[in-house]
This record gives sequence, C-alpha cells and structure tokens, in this order.
Amino acid sequence: MSDTSTRALHLLQTVFGYPAFRGQQADIVEHVSAGGDALVLMPTGGGKSLCYQIPALVRDGVGVVISPLIALMQDQVDALAEVGVRAAFLNSTQSYEEASRIERLVRTGQIDLVYVAPERLMTERCLNLFQDSKIALFAIDEAHCVSQWGHDFRPEYIKLSVLHEQFPDVPRIALTATADQQTRAEIVHRLQLEDAMQFVSSFDRPNIRYQIVEKGNGRKQLLDFITGEHGGDSGIVYCLSRKKVEETAEFLNENGVRALAYHAGMEHTKRAANQARFLREENIVMVATIAFGMGIDKPDVRFVCHLDLPKSIEGYYQETGRAGRDGLPASAWMAYGLQDVVLQRRMIDESEADETFKRVLGMKLDSMLGLCETLSCRRVRLLDYFGERSAPCGNCDTCLIPPVSFDGTVPVQKLLSAVYRVDQRFAAGHVIEVLRGVETERIKTWHHDSLSVFGIGADRSEQEWRAILRQVIALGLVTVDHEQYSSLKLTDAARPVLKGGQKVQLRQYQKPVKQKRPTTAS
Ligand code: ADP
Ligand code: ZN
Repeated sequence: MSDTSTRALHLLQTVFGYPAFRGQQADIVEHVSAGGDALVLMPTGGGKSLCYQIPALVRDGVGVVISPLIALMQDQVDALAEVGVRAAFLNSTQSYEEASRIERLVRTGQIDLVYVAPERLMTERCLNLFQDSKIALFAIDEAHCVSQWGHDFRPEYIKLSVLHEQFPDVPRIALTATADQQTRAEIVHRLQLEDAMQFVSSFDRPNIRYQIVEKGNGRKQLLDFITGEHGGDSGIVYCLSRKKVEETAEFLNENGVRALAYHAGMEHTKRAANQARFLREENIVMVATIAFGMGIDKPDVRFVCHLDLPKSIEGYYQETGRAGRDGLPASAWMAYGLQDVVLQRRMIDESEADETFKRVLGMKLDSMLGLCETLSCRRVRLLDYFGERSAPCGNCDTCLIPPVSFDGTVPVQKLLSAVYRVDQRFAAGHVIEVLRGVETERIKTWHHDSLSVFGIGADRSEQEWRAILRQVIALGLVTVDHEQYSSLKLTDAARPVLKGGQKVQLRQYQKPVKQKRPTTAS
C-alpha cells in the first residue's frame, strides 16, 4: 500500500469511523490525493462525498466543493463538524461579516473544506480569494448540472471551465449520479476533463423493484398501490404539473394517506416547511414536481411513484433512485398511458428549442418509451441505457409476471389503414370509433361509416385500441400533429408495416387490476 493509501484509510477509520472503503472509493481517493483529475459516476447513496472529503484532508490546503444545493450546505458542514473536520460554506444566505470571517480562514489555511455555490465562485472576489490561498482540490458536485439537455441545467456550471484555466495545477474531481453517455461527454467537454480518469460504478440498485403499469384511473391505481403494498411507509409521488400535485395530495389525504405537496409555484416558506416535515417524519408521502429531490437524503423512502411519464431515463433513474437509500427493499412504480406519450411529444414539438435540441429530446423520450413498452427485464433495459450489461433481475414486474406479447401486425395494419382512410386529419378518439364501427354524428357527417375500414376493429375494446395506438406512437409509426387538432399522421416507418413486409410484436393490454402484494420477495 502506498503512503497516500495508508493515510487515506487511516482518515477513513479514525475521522469518519468506517472500517473500509466501498467500491471504487479507494482508487478514486488515491488518484485525486496524488493530484489527478477525476470524473466519478456513482449512483445516489454510493458514497461520493468521501471521494473528495478524504483527498481534501490528505492534501495540503483547502478543498473547495462546488455545489448548487445551497439549502443543504449547512447540514453538510454540520455533519463534518461533528466528526471534527473544519468545514464552512460561502453563499448568499450569510452576512457580509460571516463571509469575511470564512474568507480569512480560507486564506490562512485554517479550514479543511469550503462549500460554495457556482454563482458565488464566479465572482471576482471569490476567484481572487482562491488565487491567494492554498487549494487542495476542486470538487464539482452534481456535475450533470452542466448538461444543457438535462432538467437540472444550471448556466453557471458552464463557466466552471475557468477552474482549469485559472488553476491548472489544482486537481479537479467532478461527481454525478447521472451517467448516460451524452451527459458524460458533455461534462468532460464543458469542464475540460478530457484527461481526467473516469470512475464508473455500477448503477444497479438491486433493492429497488421496478413496476410500470397501464394507466386507467391513475390516482385510484396510485392509492391502491400505496395502501396495498406500502401502507404506513414514506414515499414520493411525482406529477408533471403543479395543479396535479395539489389535487393528488388532496386526494391521498382524503383517502387516509398522509400527504404533503411540493412545487416551485408554492410560497417559499410553505415549501421549505413541507420539505422539513418530509425529512423528519415517518409515514408521510410527498407529492411533488421534479423540483423536489436533488440532494434530499431520507434513507427510508420506501417507494417513488410517477403518475406522469418522465422525459428521459436519466430523470426516471434519478427520481426513482431516491427510494431505498438504506439498502432495504423499495419500489419504483409508474402508471403510464396513451395520453402521456401524446403530451410528452407535444411538449417537445411546442418547445422553443431549435431542431437539434428537439431531436435530442425526442431520442431521450424514445428511450424512456422503450423502457415502458419493453417485454423483457426493466433493469436490463435501464442499465443498458447507462452502458451496463446485466442479466434479468427477478425483481421487476416483467421478470415477476412476464407480459404477454402477441403478433400485432394485423391490428396495427388496421389502425394504420384507418388513419390513412380518414385522410390523416382526425385524432385518436375518432380513429378508434371508426375502427370499432361506432355510429357517431361526426362519423355520419364525414361519411366515415362507408369507409372499408369502418368496424374492422369491432372485436377489440376502446382500451385495447388505445393501448395499441400508444405502442404504435411509441414505435414511431404514427405521430400526433398538434398543429392540426391532434390529428394522427403516418410516418415513413409505417410503410413497410402497411405493405406487409414487417411484423410488429405488441404487449397484450392488461386490465388495470387492484395491486396485490407480490408473493416473491427478492
Ligand atoms: P452519495 O453522495 O453518493 O449519494 P453519500 O456520500 O451521501 O452518497 O454516502 C451515502 C451514505 O453511505 C452515507 O451515509 C455515508 O456515510 C455512507 N458511506 C459512504 N462511504 C462509506 C463507507 N466506505 N463505509 C460505510 N459507509 C459509507
Ligand atoms: Zn427484471
């Protein structure tokens, strides 16, 4: 063992009170302590903090931690103080006098770690301070905030490239729990970490059971899930809109599940109070938009639910990753339906973004849809997205109750023909009525009851057709034109299916059933 490793292990045991490093921690600590740059990809709860805290103690000077989570800095500093590490933070919440005091400690090297928000770091005052001080390392926490494609994008993060330019001799360690290839490449590029050593941990969270169900009455299904599988547990429920957050929290409360709401539109004090209650109490559910969660460390979150489809697998993985940080069994549950696909596609179409950006968002959504529609193990699919190979897990819905698939070529052809026969000018509801042979006023007005496709799908229920259409949209055979009354349009990919050259395998529609506690435990 090298001198550095011996010192690092000694610090781990005597200061932090842990017997051994976990996973790649030892390698990372050794590399950074020796002055190397590093990019660390480790799932939530993996133990990223020690990867920069220990090198900061091993090396001379002050370790600077850049973090967007101002609200949590006090907690982090307190936790370090408890084990005798001299830490402080610099941010906009403190007085001028207090900041000056901390600055003096940094300049005179009487402190081990200082946390700063990126916007603070970028000030001339702060950069000058660090130029005048001995800096042990820069740790860039939540490094995915540099990614313009992600939902945690912080413009100030992009400017962090000045660290490399102004402090070429100070090692930098960037850390994140988001690991898809694109985000990784963006971090490397934007933070000029081309020469940094990359440490990629497994992203598997074996104690989390993944379940994605067909959405009927989502709220009711959610309630059944919580009362059936997680009565008395704490959990988080994600919704897309603020309105839905409030309605869902109210609905849960009315039905005997203690729930709080959290979204960016709420008054700050109320929001902070709800967050504090959630962290402190047991048997409590937080219903929130994605504004909630980054940096939240509540180890006993037993379930994370999504009532709306996330925009990407990174988002889904991060949000579900807040379940089961204590390593005990936990659930990630989502209800998903046709409307989700339509809505997410529309949000991309209608966004102000340029074409390249829209294409990236579209690809991210496609991967998410692939996870929802997969006929094989969810975990295999999820990890594959992060470039990790794995075997079927036995602890997800598709492993426990394999979905029934069928050759859907004929019904898909019927659906595509119906879209074509109504001149690609009608929305989902109308097309399904034509297929099912429903004689509505609208159908009579347009003489769609005399089309050859009228009634050719009468053997299937409306729900079944919606499930087929959802998959057809997810597969990219049909798009929804939001500029024209949400009318369905065929894509080029529909042609080979219509012509009969290409088969389509579909997931059998399963009636939403009351959730039962699964009998097989992991
Ligand atoms: P992350 O930032 O990756 O989400 P943390 O750094 O907060 O993870 O660590 C998660 C938990 O694991 C913390 O409670 C931490 O004290 C604990 N932990 C980290 N490393 C070790 C270790 N080597 N041995 C035991 N516990 C550890
Ligand atoms: Zn599985």
